[in-house]
Amino acid sequence: MIDLLLLLTLTVAIAAGWWLGRRGNRPLIWGSSAQPPSEYYRGLNFLLDGSQDNAIDAFTQALEVNAETFDTHIALGNVLRRRGEVERAIRVHQNLLARPSLPQTQLHLAHLELARDYISAGLLDRAEKLLIDLVAESGNHRRVARRHLLEIYEAQRDWSAACEVAEELLPKRSLIKSADNAADEVGQPVSVLLAHYCCEQAALARVRGDYGEGRELLAKALRYDKACVRATLSLGALELSAGQPEQSIKVLKTVFDQGPEYLAEVTPLMREAMDSLGIRKNLCSYLEGCFERSPTTPLALAIAHELHVTIGNEAAKNFLRKSLKDKPSLRGVALLMSLHDSSEAGDDEPLERETIEKIIDQRFSHRCTHCGFRNQQLHWYCPGCKHWGTIRDLGTTGEALNG
Ligand SMILES: [Zn+2]
Repeated sequence: MIDLLLLLTLTVAIAAGWWLGRRGNRPLIWGSSAQPPSEYYRGLNFLLDGSQDNAIDAFTQALEVNAETFDTHIALGNVLRRRGEVERAIRVHQNLLARPSLPQTQLHLAHLELARDYISAGLLDRAEKLLIDLVAESGNHRRVARRHLLEIYEAQRDWSAACEVAEELLPKRSLIKSADNAADEVGQPVSVLLAHYCCEQAALARVRGDYGEGRELLAKALRYDKACVRATLSLGALELSAGQPEQSIKVLKTVFDQGPEYLAEVTPLMREAMDSLGIRKNLCSYLEGCFERSPTTPLALAIAHELHVTIGNEAAKNFLRKSLKDKPSLRGVALLMSLHDSSEAGDDEPLERETIEKIIDQRFSHRCTHCGFRNQQLHWYCPGCKHWGTIRDLGTTGEALNG
């Protein structure tokens, strides 16, 4: 369908040029002749033979590049890129750039589209060079070029280069502000991106054992975006690695105010910290207090697990039975069945449990709130839409049976 529309556009553009050329004795679309070039007839033949790809090539050659036909060439290149025919898209856009007589604004647009082609083709170094030039030369495309540079540096995991470019995208008078102030941004607010870039750098610092730098980076992440749960969780983990369990617990408790839907993610870290201080019994009461204010399936599972370990089976089962009435979930049923002892389990119980567990394994437990991408665990970066911090446990998003 896209091909047909595109071919129609090309045919009309060429025919219009020929007609105007004849009428005004001044060819607009191709060189000095008022006759359509042979490529036009070749294109028509290909079209009639049903060979759309060859027809597109022939029409492109017939359609001279000038300011009037520029948009058609750009549209053609973009359609080819979207169809995955990146090499042909590159040829179309390079052909535009080979015409320095075009107005500068059009050359800059061709420049941008060629950079997008290179990104699609995975030729990131070439795209980077074009985009850096565009940032220097084109005021109109500077912001979008910087956004594409971020895309490249994210793919290369070059976080310091990403931070440098992202800071240029921040509003000038608020270099370090919360995400609320970047509502006018296209895509995710830059402050949200910066917070995640800092988290990535902090993770590397933690691996190196450089806790001081890690703390600084995570504090910076929270200055960029005070709602960045990842920064808080990372700081809690870092304090634990640095032998500061009390500080870790203090930090982790602030997750509830940032994003109660992430509380279950806090549990393993808090358990480890409390264990090391000999205060494990405090964990259950803390989680139950949170559950009263924000009941979610993952938190119910975490509490049941904790009750099972610290108090016993009955306490865990009673809690699960009550929470399942309010929030039905397959994961809850599976956990309840696993807690049954042999006297409670019927003959079919192993089969029932196995079946439910298989169903759970086949279902996705997490979903991106931006694009709907689903997977089995929490990731901070969505591979579907390339957004940061948008993946949630389905048990926190109010979906029926939530995995
Ligand atoms: Zn997504």
